[in-house]
Amino acid sequence: MKPIVAIVGRPNVGKSTLVNRIAQTADAIVHQSRGVTRDRSYHEADWNGRSFTLVDTGGIEPLKSEDVFSASIRDQALAACEEAAVILFVVDGTTGVTEEDESVARMLKRVKAPVFLLVNKLDNPDREGDNLWEFYSLGVGEPIAISALHGHGTGDLLDEVVALF
Ligand code: GDP
Ligand code: MG
Repeated sequence: MKPIVAIVGRPNVGKSTLVNRIAQTADAIVHQSRGVTRDRSYHEADWNGRSFTLVDTGGIEPLKSEDVFSASIRDQALAACEEAAVILFVVDGTTGVTEEDESVARMLKRVKAPVFLLVNKLDNPDREGDNLWEFYSLGVGEPIAISALHGHGTGDLLDEVVALF
C-alpha cells in the first residue's frame, strides 16, 4: 500500500484548495470514495518518483459550525490520521489561531505520524513571516507558510513530505 498523506483542519482554511494544488503539481489521479459514514476523496499522486495517496478529510466537516469537532467528528478525523504516514494540518494565516484550530491540534497529539503545520493564505511571499510565529502556540511544531491558491511553498513542502516515506 502507498503511504497516505492526510489533510486535516477546520473548515475554510483551504484544505480542498491545497489538495487540488498538490494534485495538479504531482499529476494526481482522483478517486472519489463514498463511504458509509462520510465521503473522503483519495488522490493518487507522484512526486520525484515517489507515489503516495492524498486524502482530503474535508468530508468529515460537520454541516453546522457550532458542532465542529464534536466527539464523533473528532473520532473520524482521528481514524483518518491513524492510517496516515504524514499529516498536513492546515490553518489560516489571515485569521490567526482559533479555538477550532486548538481542537484539531489537541486531537493530533494522539497521533503518531509526523505533522506539518501549514499556515495557508499567505499569498505574499515578502510578508509571510508576519503571521507565522503565533501558530507556534498550537504546539505541533514549526509553522510553514504556504499559499495553496498561488502554489507558493507547496513544491518545497512536497520535497519534505516524500523524504519521510
Ligand atoms: P476547506 O474548507 O478547508 O476545504 O477550504 P477551501 O479549499 O474550500 O477554501 C476555502 C476558501 O479559502 C476558498 O474561498 C478558497 O479560494 C480560499 N483559499 C484557499 N487557499 C487560499 C490561499 O492560499 N490564499 C487565499 N487568498 N485564499 C485561499
Ligand atoms: Mg474542503
